[in-house]
Amino acid sequence: MKGLVQEIIADLKSYLEYLKGLGIVGLPVSEGKEEMVPSLEEVQKEVGDCRRCKLHRTRRTLVFGEGNKKAILMIIGEGPGYEEDVQGRPFVGKAGQLLTKILQSIHLQREEVYIANIIKCRPPQNRNPEPDEIQTCYPFLLRQIHAIQPQIICALGTFAAQTLLKTDAKITTLRGKFYDFSGIKILPTYHPAYLLRNPERKREVWEDMKQISKWMTDHVGIPARPADEDSHREKASHPVGENMR
Ligand code: SF4
Repeated sequence: MKGLVQEIIADLKSYLEYLKGLGIVGLPVSEGKEEMVPSLEEVQKEVGDCRRCKLHRTRRTLVFGEGNKKAILMIIGEGPGYEEDVQGRPFVGKAGQLLTKILQSIHLQREEVYIANIIKCRPPQNRNPEPDEIQTCYPFLLRQIHAIQPQIICALGTFAAQTLLKTDAKITTLRGKFYDFSGIKILPTYHPAYLLRNPERKREVWEDMKQISKWMTDHVGIPARPADEDSHREKASHPVGENMR
């Protein structure tokens, strides 16, 4: 319980910092019962041509995110790479192509999910995002999550998992388990870019994605597809998830 309260306070602090950055110093008080949920368009407008952290100096394009505005599943990665920076879209390079295959392995198309990153601008030479950059950009992602209201999030890689779950634990420890994020399920797994370098880990991602698929079937009523289940079993007999190649 104490941990939950601390988490809520940390989230609130992060959100208030974000509002302060926008020049808002007071919170609106709602007289009605309706919760003020921003639209994605409103969030994108707030982000605008953001120059709130140093990454704006080296980016080519700000990568806001894309996909189904009412997605049940949201995919959250680390940050844009070279191709994403060029095209202004998330996960469009080699790692993105692998992500598309990973989604297809649980019978989802890219257009059915929403894809975003912890930070929206590419770090120079694809270096790791720095804490101040994450801290500045993360509130926008929280607003996107609030706008989309997904039921489940797949966090790809160390930075996404650690930021969302507020932990320093390694992705090897975090992956493959469900966590609660203000009522939304989160399941972390390896980043597709990591899989490109370590293909022997594909089996674990395959197992993680099957968990997400099962959760969606059990909790959201997305019907199971028996024929595809057969194909799962067939592919599961391979040493690595063949369908992700
Ligand atoms: S990374 Fe985020 S906070 Fe930094 S400039 Fe880009 S959009 Fe703004």
